[in-house]
Amino acid sequence: MPNSPPEKPVYRFAPSPNGFLHLGHALSAFLNHDMAKASGGRFLLRIEDIDLTRCTAEFEEMIYRDLTWLGLDWEMPVRRQSEHFDAYRDALDRLRSMGLVYPTFLTRGEVKAHVTAYETNGKNWPRDPDGSPLYPDDDRLRNEAERAHLIAKGIKHAWRMDVMKAMALVGKQLSWQETGTGHPETIPADPTIWGDVILSRSDAPSSYHLSVVIDDALQGITHVVRGEDLYTATAIHRLLQELLGLPEPVYHHHQLIVGSDGRKLSKSEGSTGIAALRDEGLLPGDIRRIVGL
Ligand code: GLU
Repeated sequence: MPNSPPEKPVYRFAPSPNGFLHLGHALSAFLNHDMAKASGGRFLLRIEDIDLTRCTAEFEEMIYRDLTWLGLDWEMPVRRQSEHFDAYRDALDRLRSMGLVYPTFLTRGEVKAHVTAYETNGKNWPRDPDGSPLYPDDDRLRNEAERAHLIAKGIKHAWRMDVMKAMALVGKQLSWQETGTGHPETIPADPTIWGDVILSRSDAPSSYHLSVVIDDALQGITHVVRGEDLYTATAIHRLLQELLGLPEPVYHHHQLIVGSDGRKLSKSEGSTGIAALRDEGLLPGDIRRIVGL
């Protein structure tokens, strides 16, 4: 029997249409595209639009326009997350049947009040790598009757993962393979630094973490190339992949392009927006040079 040919590498660029693409997105898109072409692989585009209030059709159109102008081409059809909520619901149901998710009822304001009350005694409430307070224990400690009662009362709720329980179930140290510059090849993954993360929001039937791992698996992504801002989130993605029996891509986190104030670019920062730079008369080659390629 002849050996089957090795699988082609599959790369993806996965922007959210909630603002204009900026230089940081251009770097990610170029890297994914160039690495796919250089390896004889495939380049996919995914629209991460689960946030139906912030994502708009206009921003999505601008993504296609900017990427086309930059000289990139991608396979059709484009996967739009808003068309696949069922897939994320199914995954959440599986985790629920494993006893790994629970409903959470505290609003952002209530969490803040909880943390402030705790910190008035001079103690520090634990925070995640982005600086947000870890979610308090209260909802995890509720019994089923209480949960059912609150849901029946119509209280808005999200679903969070019981990360400690999930880690105990996995029962081993997790890691990921990294090819980004300046990182060791194998990175130990500790999802507990994020506390009990949201897997399904009160206003959307999924979350970034859940949909990204489902889509990377369904689209057969072999290489995830994205900004360093998502480096520590990879630990959560590895845990979800392990729990759901999904394949593990290789990760490559690239440096972030920072603004003149040294801070990460935001989507509202007009001066580094691709469309604004195009209107100023810059060419795609200039954008490549500015992002260091
Ligand atoms: N949608 C995410 C963003 O726009 C990127 C997700 C990823 O590459 O994993 O920041």
